[in-house]
Amino acid sequence: MLIGVLCLQGAFIEHIGILGRLGAETVELRQKSDLEGRSFDGLIIPGGESTVIGKLLRELDMENDIRSMIESGVPVYGTCAGLILLARRIVNDDNVYLGTMDIEARRNAYGRQLGSFACEAEFEGIGRIPMTFIRAPYIERVGKKAKVLSVVDGHIVAARQGNQLVTAFHPELTDDSRVHEYFLDMVKKRK
Ligand code: GLN
Repeated sequence: MLIGVLCLQGAFIEHIGILGRLGAETVELRQKSDLEGRSFDGLIIPGGESTVIGKLLRELDMENDIRSMIESGVPVYGTCAGLILLARRIVNDDNVYLGTMDIEARRNAYGRQLGSFACEAEFEGIGRIPMTFIRAPYIERVGKKAKVLSVVDGHIVAARQGNQLVTAFHPELTDDSRVHEYFLDMVKKRK
């Protein structure tokens, strides 16, 4: 199983570590040529700064290739900034990046005081898991095709639409690998 991990900026090392421990092979996606000549079973869009990752995706001419892969059904998992990059609309920002998922995200949604926090909450299909939020977004609306998987304090923090999975939190910063196992299961059972 070959998973491409977008490594332009942000928390990608941790995803590579967890995926390796779960037995998946990873390729670091740093430039357009990393996407060529290989067939990926899955993609990870990590957390970081969505404006920076989004700008680099465009400058490095990787955005259209990645969008086509997602549109062709390659399973993708976006954490935090990755969620923002996959969203069809960002309610407090005019940019749209990959825009493949029918969700509306609010950037830096928790404001300054509660910018970063950790909690434990229910994730549909997994159970209670630890969640680490860092200047996180949340999802204000999901479209008809998307399914809510987790809600914290009345806000949607995880969703799935077909082969696309997003979390506003960072499971790769905890020692609980169940969300990554969930994603690898999506890859195995690709629709
Ligand atoms: N605040 C960041 C953004 O808007 C996301 C933070 C994160 O990925 N941890 O892109």
